[in-house]
Order: sequence, then structure tokens, then C-alpha cells
Amino acid sequence: MTQHTNAALAETPKVTALRPVTIALAGNPNSGKTTTFNALTGARQHVGNYPGVTVEKKEGSTMLDGERVHVVDLPGTYSLTAYSVEELAARNFLVDERPDVVVDVLDAGTLERSLYLAVQFMEMGVPLVLALNMMDEVRKRNMSIDSCLLGKLLGVPVVETIAKAGKGKEALLSTAMMLSAERRGAWKPLEISYSPDLDEAIAEMVQLIEKDRFLVDQVPARWLAVKFLEQDDEVRNMARKVGPTADRLQTIADRVAEHCARTLKTHPESIIADYRYGYIASVMKQGVLTRDDSRDRIELSDRVDKVVTHALFGPLLMLGVLYFMFDLTFTVGEIPMGWLETFFGWLGDAATAAIPPGLFQSLVVSGIIDGVGGVIGFVPLIVMMFLILSFLDDLGYVARMAYMLDRVFKIFGLHGSSVMPFIISGGIPGGCAVPGVMAARTLRSPKERLATILVAPFMSCGAKIPVFLLLTAAFFPNIAGQLMFAITLTAWAVALIVARLLRSTVVSGPATPFIMELPPYRIPTLRGVLIHTWERAWMYIRKAGTVILAISILLWACMTFPSLPQDRLSVFETEHAAVEASIDAASEADRPALEDQLVQLEDREAQAALRYSVAGRIGTALESVTKVAGFDWRTNIALVGGFAAKEVIVSTLGTAYSLGDVDPEDSQPLSARLAADPGFSAAAALALIVFTMIYAPCMVTVAAIGKEAGWSWAAFSVIFNTVLGFSAATLTYHVARSFLG
Ligand code: GDP
Ligand code: MG
Repeated sequence: MTQHTNAALAETPKVTALRPVTIALAGNPNSGKTTTFNALTGARQHVGNYPGVTVEKKEGSTMLDGERVHVVDLPGTYSLTAYSVEELAARNFLVDERPDVVVDVLDAGTLERSLYLAVQFMEMGVPLVLALNMMDEVRKRNMSIDSCLLGKLLGVPVVETIAKAGKGKEALLSTAMMLSAERRGAWKPLEISYSPDLDEAIAEMVQLIEKDRFLVDQVPARWLAVKFLEQDDEVRNMARKVGPTADRLQTIADRVAEHCARTLKTHPESIIADYRYGYIASVMKQGVLTRDDSRDRIELSDRVDKVVTHALFGPLLMLGVLYFMFDLTFTVGEIPMGWLETFFGWLGDAATAAIPPGLFQSLVVSGIIDGVGGVIGFVPLIVMMFLILSFLDDLGYVARMAYMLDRVFKIFGLHGSSVMPFIISGGIPGGCAVPGVMAARTLRSPKERLATILVAPFMSCGAKIPVFLLLTAAFFPNIAGQLMFAITLTAWAVALIVARLLRSTVVSGPATPFIMELPPYRIPTLRGVLIHTWERAWMYIRKAGTVILAISILLWACMTFPSLPQDRLSVFETEHAAVEASIDAASEADRPALEDQLVQLEDREAQAALRYSVAGRIGTALESVTKVAGFDWRTNIALVGGFAAKEVIVSTLGTAYSLGDVDPEDSQPLSARLAADPGFSAAAALALIVFTMIYAPCMVTVAAIGKEAGWSWAAFSVIFNTVLGFSAATLTYHVARSFLG
């Protein structure tokens, strides 16, 4: 084994003469390896077995320019993992025998799939030549492959062959010999990114391997690290025998595997495979392969586009599609939403029954179950919307929308591609700005991307919807539907106008032309749509599970502590006892009035307790400023909580206005209570709607903006949006008051 790893040997010409160049033929089963082997070696063959396994090993030789060339036919494999004896035999041959060149024989008719093995050779770094075999069939099927381009993109020599007819074998042989002379046995591993999580672990492992010089003479450090992540038993056992570094590598690999299982419900192996396919897909996308039947598809696409992007009909269709999407989201999404509501209601009741009354019950029921339940309740809506959106996206329709809207968006300093981030953020009510901000990645111009990121949070995300619904139902029950529609349009208008404002001031720069090409229409695959939906919905769910749970508990604590001092409590208690005593003594006829009195007393106590709490004090302190927009201290509590997560606004208003333990049988809904409250008017409701629409994005969105655009822009959006929101709310309040009284 060691004599092959000694590179110095190969460099002296004398030794080269002693040891002929070895070419290993590799490839998927049925790619034409044996045929190529026969074409190259003719009759000079020898059939044996690989050491220790019953895998047939064929060896032969051929002559080139008077020099003998040794050729080995490796077993056919689809990959280089240790899943089968064939794969193992092929891999061990490469590692142990270090052939001078590996010729990967590919069935060019299944190019994309065949490249999976090629990429693994490239990751090992062996000197590699690709033989694009079966080119005759490729031509017959009206396809053409740009092998020059493929070679350039991969950085690997590519030779077209028709092994059955012996065509291309000379070129293949001479290319292989040239590469062998050039590389002199050196391995040059290709580095592919396998997602930030894995890359980080690989870097850590490589550092360790290089520090300990662990097996570095035999395999590339990165390759070894990847094999550990792939849980490759063969490599792990071999490494364990060599030294303790193996255990430390294993620890890192286990940690990553656990992390992937927890966060992505998948294994590093499958992530690695996905990224390999991703690498291949990105190469294929550059136009390596053209199918002539694709011309038909493009023509069909063009014909469809004449209608779909027609100057008049196009926008109408788009409105129809958006309306349909909105309608479907809410009608279908409502059903599972009802189930979740029932479930969390039941859970709350069960917890109330199971836990004795007191602080802990209040924490579990009001803090945890209500808080998280309110958010999880929206998951069906979000999933429905993302499902339709992913379908439209995969179909190719979103690109058409972008194309049509580009002309309008350009006026506001944006780009057609801004439409997707807008819609995801809640341009169709019910989205979420977190995936919305991330969706802005598709924008190529940094300025347009930044402007899109900054204004997307104005859209009506799923968390703001309940606030809007609550207020419209309370104060404008007759025009609730129209008002909701107006709110949606206003959000778009605000986003566009603010974008214009930003683009002519802090984010100024030229507009980029619309260079996004319209992809041909494609029937989406269920799997693809589901994956895309899941990716987007997951960001929302994760937010509910982590951030919102923490915030709910924190807010609950702020609204509960400090509790009323004993002297004030006892005043309420005495009064309570007095009323109860008079109820007992009263006649049947007088009772209802007295019971009412009791309820009001409890209301006052709850109010006093809330006002006394940390949250109440903050809300009260802010009142002197916020009263110009019509917000009282209770609304302030909700809005401060809403910065943490907009979902919290409604639940906090609910707590702040729940006014004691009213008998649930005759408790009025929150909207009725708001409408009846003297401190709350229709004008204040409108102002609150405007403020909720515009003010600081929720913390999770701010974090997303920070990651995507930098933390100073995240801070900018908090301050700018809040100031803008407050100004707009104040204006709304005063204008509305002069109209509504
Ligand atoms: P292996 O499994 O990779 O060793 O593949 P084989 O060499 O046994 O070939 C599989 C099949 O493909 C055989 O039927 C060959 O005749 C056929 N074949 C090999 N090369 C070509 C080619 O260039 N063109 C066509 N049309 N068929 C080929
Ligand atoms: Mg064969």
C-alpha cells in the first residue's frame, strides 16, 4: 500500500517504465464499462477477484505509443458509499491502489443521474476523465450535449464515446494518458458546500485531521470528514484502528447527526446527497443538455403566455388567481383552524381542571396554552397559503406575475421579483414576513432587494389579521368585509410609497432591467410543492414554538407581577365578602342585580391589578405620548407586547379587557367589550389598525432583516417604522375623529 502513496516514485521516469500507467474504468452498471474495457484491451484480459470479496475483477492492457497501459474494470456502482460490496471494492481499489487515472463511463442518455457518481470521484480528487458513452442513442433521441461546456463547468476532461462501435476510444486513451502525466498521481478534491451546518462541522473535522495528520497520506482530509458524517462504517472502523482522532471525529459527526435529526428530521447522509444533486443541477442548468422536444414545450409556453401575460387579460387573470388563492386559503384553512381552536380550548380547560387555582394555573393556561395556541391556530392558514403559492411558483406562474408587475413596481423603485416576498409576507393576507424577507434573496440588485426587505413587513401577515378582524368587527360591523379589503390595499400602498421614499433617499440607486427569463410552464410535482411549503411553514412554526412561548411567559409575568399590595387586596376582599353576604340575604328578585355588582367588583380588581403590574406601569407611562393617537394604557401594553410578536396584541388586549373572571356563559366577546369601553372609540380603532400595520416589525422579522441585510438596517426598520406608524396613526385618529365624532 505504502509504495503507491510515495509520490516520489512516480516522478522518476525509470520507475514509470517499470510500473505501467493504470487506468481504472468506473461507472454505473450498464453504462458500457465492460464494452469500453473490451474495446480498449481487446483480447488481453485477465479475470480474477478483488481481495477478500467475490466481486469479479477484470484486468487487461493496451498499448499507446509503445507504452503498456494497465486497464482495470471496476465493478459497476451508483455511489461510493459502503452500502454494497461492489461499492466497497471499487472504493478500496482507488484508495489502496491509487490508479493514475479513473475513467468514469457515463450513459449520456441519463447524464444528470450518472453525474452523481462522477461528483463523488471529484470529491475524492482522483484524476478523472468522463467518457460520455452511448452518444449514438443521445443523438437518436434528438438531444444534444455540450460536452465542452460540461468539461469546463466541472473542470474535468470529457470525451464522447460510442463504446459499442469502438468510437472515441483513442481520444479517451490519449486524454487519460495526458491527464496521468499532468497530475502525476496527485489528488485534487472538489469541495462542495453541504449547507452551513455541515460545512461548519466539516471545517472543524478537517482542522482536527490536519492537526493530528490523521490518515492524511491515504485520503483527503475533507473526504474523511464527509465519510464520518455519512456514517460510513468501513471508514470509521478503519480509522478507529489507526488512532484516537477517530473518536473525536465521531463525536463531532454524532453531534451534527443529532442536530439534523432534531431540526430537519433528516440525516447528514441525505443532506449531503441533496447538495450533491444540487451541485449537479446547477451545472446542468447552464445549458449542458438540450432536448429538442423542449422546443415544443417552449412554443406551447409562448402561446400560453400570449394570453396569460396579455396587457389587459393578464392583470385580470392575476387578480382572479390572487382572489382565488385568498378565498381558498380562508375557506379550506378555516376547517383545521377550528379543530386546533377546539383542541387548545380543551387543553386549557383540562389544565384548569387539573391544576389547582393560583399562579401556576394562570401561567400554564394564560401564559403558555393561550399564547402558543393562538399562534399554532394560524398554521393551517399559513400552510394552505404556502401550498398554493408553492404550486404557482413551481408552475412558473409567479414568474409571470413578476413580469407583469415589473412595470408598476419600477415606478416605485422596486423590481418585478419583489412580488413574491410581498405576497409571502402577507400581500395576500395571512402570510409571514420572516419567510417573506428571506424570499427577497431572488432579487439580484442589492438596492432593490434591500428596499423590498424593508417594506415587506408592512403587509398583512397572519399575526396582524386577528387584530384587524377584532377591531373591524367591534367598531365597523356593517362594513367589516370592505374594510378588511381596504386594509389589504392600504398595506400594499404603504409598502410601495415607502419603497419609493427609500429608493429616492437612503437606498437610492438605478433600477435594474427585468432580466428574469420566463421559464417554460411545468406541471409541479407533489413532492416539490410539499417540500417548498414545508420549508416556508416551518419557519413560522419554529417561531411559535420558541420565541412566542418565551414571550408569552414573559408577558404573562409582566402582567401579573408585582401583585396588588395586601392593603389594597383586603379592601377588595372586604367589599367582596359584603356583596356576597347581601346576595345570600337577598330575595330571588334582587339577586341578579347584586350578582352584577359582584362581577363589576371583580372587573375593577383585575383592572387595578393589571395597572399595578410592570406592564401596567409601562403602559401608563407611555399613555402621555400615545394619547395623541388615541391609545390608552391597556392598548400600550398590547402594542409593546406586539413588538415581540404581533400575535400577542390580541391576546394581550384580551387579558387587559377581560375584566375579571366573568362567567363564560354570558361573557361578551372581546370585540363587544372593546366597543362598549368608553376609553375606546372608532377613531382610536382606526388609528390602532394603521399603527399595527406600519409599526416596528416583530422581533423575529427584525432578526431576519438583520441576517439578510445587516443589523443597522434592522435597527433602522424598528425606529423608522415605529415613528412612521405613530405619525400615521395620530393623523388617522384626528382625521377620523373629526368625521366620526
Ligand atoms: P457495464 O454494465 O457498464 O459493463 O455495461 P456493458 O458494457 O455490459 O454494456 C451494457 C449494454 O450497453 C450492452 O448491451 C452494450 O452493448 C450496450 N452499449 C455499450 N456501449 C454502448 C454505446 O455506446 N451505444 C449503445 N447504443 N449501446 C452500448
Ligand atoms: Mg460490466
